[in-house]
Amino acid sequence: MSTIYNFSAGPAVLPRAVLQQAQAELTDWHGSGMSVMEMSHRGKEFLSIASQAEADLRELLAIPDNYRVLFLQGGASSQFAMVPLNLLRGKKSADYINTGSWSKKAIKEAGRFCDVHVAASSEDSGFTTIPAFDSWQLNADAAYVHYTPNETIGGVEFHWVPDSGDVPLVADMSSTILSRPLDVSRYGVIYAGAQKNIGPAGLTVVIVRDDLLGDVAAGTPSMYDYKLHADNGSMLNTPPTYGWYLAGLVFDWLKQQGGLAAMAEINSRKSARLYAALSASGFYNSPVDPACQSWMNVPFTLADAGLDSEFLVQAGSAGLLSLKGHRSVGGMRASIYNAMPEAGLDALIDFMAEFERTHG
Ligand SMILES: *Cc1c(COP(=O)(O)O)cnc(C)c1O
Repeated sequence: MSTIYNFSAGPAVLPRAVLQQAQAELTDWHGSGMSVMEMSHRGKEFLSIASQAEADLRELLAIPDNYRVLFLQGGASSQFAMVPLNLLRGKKSADYINTGSWSKKAIKEAGRFCDVHVAASSEDSGFTTIPAFDSWQLNADAAYVHYTPNETIGGVEFHWVPDSGDVPLVADMSSTILSRPLDVSRYGVIYAGAQKNIGPAGLTVVIVRDDLLGDVAAGTPSMYDYKLHADNGSMLNTPPTYGWYLAGLVFDWLKQQGGLAAMAEINSRKSARLYAALSASGFYNSPVDPACQSWMNVPFTLADAGLDSEFLVQAGSAGLLSLKGHRSVGGMRASIYNAMPEAGLDALIDFMAEFERTHG
């Protein structure tokens, strides 16, 4: 089989070494005679997998001791509701920053539970920018400030952390977590669906400061209560055991790559190479303000949208998959998460140059 490179936005490429290890351990994990899929989540084998995964994630992100790490289900989308249910804590309103499609979804869901105050928005720019921090209308009495550090669809990323003062900062990091080092102490809650940079779909990682636990809105279902999950070691019900295991393999792989400082260097270089190729060309264009171009998701357009389908067909034949942009924005999008090797960038950039030469 010839090499393929998968540029899907999510579920996305996983490190090949991780898949090979999972394959080798699939039917017999470490001599247990069982697949991880078949084990009791309360047995000593799975408990060792679970605690090692948490320890490795804590090490990678240098998570302080006063934060709890939860391995949940329900996707980032469930967090759109869990965040207000757990963090309103008697307050009536929360601040949201609107920088694209995922921000909007979070805003819409939060509106079911509180008064959402959109403190800043880049909708006027078609979500190609990030509003300057000095234009944000933050409310000192907000229960929390929610933002989306990387908009997976629009390809805009914060390369800085907003200062929310004493108001807890909440971040949907689904498509940027583990791409670079992070100062967790700046946040009240960080959450991420696994299927971009952590592991397979079905697992959601939540990192929550422990003073924010235990004051949920009346009527909150048990499964939406962070404290109940924290008190039960994320085993309030049967957790997504296989996803948790695979995430653990990814964390271990990241440590072997040199941790998040090394990943930041690689990710910065990979994305810079692609943006340089886009800006050097008169044929391709990045719609995003250069100050906030994403390291992880790179949308781009062709000078003639009539060539889009031909581009995708030829890219597919060259082994470059899932480059079609999101249906809401059109064009192309190359998602280049941690697991995308530099050789994938080489192949994409070479293909784009050749396509431009023959069609430009
Ligand atoms: C993919 C994604 C989501 C949705 O995640 P689900 O796991 O499908 O709920 C939310 N936010 C961001 C930033 C994403 O990239």
